[in-house]
Amino acid sequence: MFALTFLGTSASVPSAERNHPALLIEAAGQRMLVDCGEGTQRQLLRSGAGFRRLDRILLTHAHLDHVLGIPGLFSTLRLRQGAEVMTVHGGPATLDTVIQMLAGLWGAGRAPLPVEFVALAAGRLIDAGDFVIDCFPVRHRDTDSFGFVFQSPSRRHLRPDRLAALGVPDGPLRGELAAGRAIVIEGDRTIDPEDVLGPPSGGKKLVVIGDLETTDGLSNDVAGADLLVIEATFLDRDAATARDYGHLTAAEAASFAAANGVRQLVLTHMSGRYEDAEILAEAVRIFPNTEIAADFDHIVV
Ligand SMILES: [Zn+2]
Ligand SMILES: [Zn+2]
Repeated sequence: MFALTFLGTSASVPSAERNHPALLIEAAGQRMLVDCGEGTQRQLLRSGAGFRRLDRILLTHAHLDHVLGIPGLFSTLRLRQGAEVMTVHGGPATLDTVIQMLAGLWGAGRAPLPVEFVALAAGRLIDAGDFVIDCFPVRHRDTDSFGFVFQSPSRRHLRPDRLAALGVPDGPLRGELAAGRAIVIEGDRTIDPEDVLGPPSGGKKLVVIGDLETTDGLSNDVAGADLLVIEATFLDRDAATARDYGHLTAAEAASFAAANGVRQLVLTHMSGRYEDAEILAEAVRIFPNTEIAADFDHIVV
């Protein structure tokens, strides 16, 4: 299960309603940010999420609307929770920009928190047991951009009706069955896991992509996602401008979701030049299960 809190949903120019990009993702007791636009620390407070156990930032790329919130957040975390290590993941060029930004403010290697920088390369980034995160390269102007795939494994749960019917007592024997091991009860009666386990359930796939100029080559990465979060900065009538600035249109984002068996689509990185309703209408015509993200939206998948 992944819980998403949208902390900022604007494109490069924020509005009264929309802050610069940042997304809080909570999974199995871990909390991480995807991007950290200017003002993210206050959005964390306003959302009610707060700062506790926040020790990881995944960066899609180093454009300023996605990273300028880092120094302020680090200053505050230093005051609030001391010197826990913050891990920052990004492409090598993205990390260079962040390292230079921090060095410009505090001197090289003297950020307010101990920071571990982990350069992204396509593939597995984190295996947390209850979930994994993979990343894949994305084309967006001259940046070193990555998208992220979060997946939780499906599990088979014990069926109470079967346990009762077969007379399996409460206690550690049930744990053995849940772990897929046969047990013997009443001296000589073998219970096989297949006798008491239900069908696989609960596996989820979440894909988060920041800015991008094309979806070409990304089908395998998003295929079958329960939820895709992706930018839609322009409308199709401005597709030429979208190309110039290295962004997608709502129609392109929706077509990408429709072509790859995505279940739910959330569009973000909204430009102030359009009404939300225009963006939504363009996408829904192609992919009906689409929403436009607003700041402080909370989605669980
Ligand atoms: Zn952006
Ligand atoms: Zn960008």
